[in-house]
Amino acid sequence: MTEKSSGQTETPSIETVLTHAGRNPDKQFGFINTPVYRGSTVLFKTLADLEAQSQAYLYGRAGNPTTESVERVVTELEGAYRTKLVPSGLAAITIALMACLKSGDDVLITDSAYEPGRKFADGFLEHMGVSVRFYDPRIGAGLSTLLLPNTRAVLAESPGSLTFEIQDIPALAAAAHAGGARLIVDNSWASPLYHRPLSLGADIVVHAATKMFVGHSDAFAGTISTTEEAWEDVERIRTLLGYFTSGDEAFQVARGLRTLAIRMKEHQERALAMATWLETRDEVEKVLHPALPSHPDHALWKRDFTGSGSLFGFVLKPAPKAAVAAFVDQMQVFSMGFSWGGYESLCLPVRITKARTVVPWSEEGNLFRAHIGLEGIEDLKADLSAALERYARAR
Ligand SMILES: *Cc1c(COP(=O)(O)O)cnc(C)c1O
Repeated sequence: MTEKSSGQTETPSIETVLTHAGRNPDKQFGFINTPVYRGSTVLFKTLADLEAQSQAYLYGRAGNPTTESVERVVTELEGAYRTKLVPSGLAAITIALMACLKSGDDVLITDSAYEPGRKFADGFLEHMGVSVRFYDPRIGAGLSTLLLPNTRAVLAESPGSLTFEIQDIPALAAAAHAGGARLIVDNSWASPLYHRPLSLGADIVVHAATKMFVGHSDAFAGTISTTEEAWEDVERIRTLLGYFTSGDEAFQVARGLRTLAIRMKEHQERALAMATWLETRDEVEKVLHPALPSHPDHALWKRDFTGSGSLFGFVLKPAPKAAVAAFVDQMQVFSMGFSWGGYESLCLPVRITKARTVVPWSEEGNLFRAHIGLEGIEDLKADLSAALERYARAR
């Protein structure tokens, strides 16, 4: 992006990419941000133009300057060949899978995968003649023993967004490639600031842009970033299926991305502080946060990540449902709800049993998932302290 005096190209820092990439003020009358483009029809001036199809935009469904402003940023962040913005994180997962699979193929999915993605595989891919199998998220190089001659895709999520196992991406990539399969990684937790799966051998990286990229719980989007080899398949399938993301949603993502670096830093610090503090509390049996030395995959996290996300889990000592209700029903600062990645802290009880088929969830205690937002840390601690006291009384 910038030239050193020696003439060597210097790679800009990730903060500079986030603030500068994907903007083109010269084309927007000097206005700094790419505005919201709304539109289906794109006009051609002459028959020659219509036939040449060489204009930057031909029809709105393929994208517009607002969607591209997001795609450029994510491409640079992930070190990808290209990126496509799609309507949701789930759409990113489903398009990526369909881009790699056809009838008669086999897919391996981590047992820790985001549940709606799992349901898509069971409820849709199976019906389309794809065999769907799940693997232990900690299998690493052992994946090669599961690959069949027709396995064409492996879907990883690191860490799992409910159970927080870290996956050995280089080992999974090597095993997948040796068997002729592509590796898709859901990188929503760490964001490309702290983890870059393509540089570790993955072929496709997906994000729930709804979460950290948007950052304010007010828009839906997903991104798919790929190597050059995988790009055509992804873009073909997206085009065939007719997925399009509106300029309005794209603008929300672009806006969120500009502050991603400082938000991630704050979320990281606070989440780690809360996780460390929770580890010392009586009612807490276990904290599931990969950046804690107590986490079983801490060494792997240290090797492959440069930071950690806002989201972690914790297991409280076994107690009846009434204690879980006592914990969450009167929270004052935390709220209860799905999704995560916004400025506001969330805490949710999680039931794993049905979502697992390979590695049964063996914790006896009650599992919770917390997203640490941007409130005062002492307020967050006070809220959880009170919740833990209510839990203990109801136990
Ligand atoms: C939320 C989430 C998704 C899906 O994103 P949506 O935009 O809600 O469809 C995918 N993966 C992970 C890890 C998520 O947390």
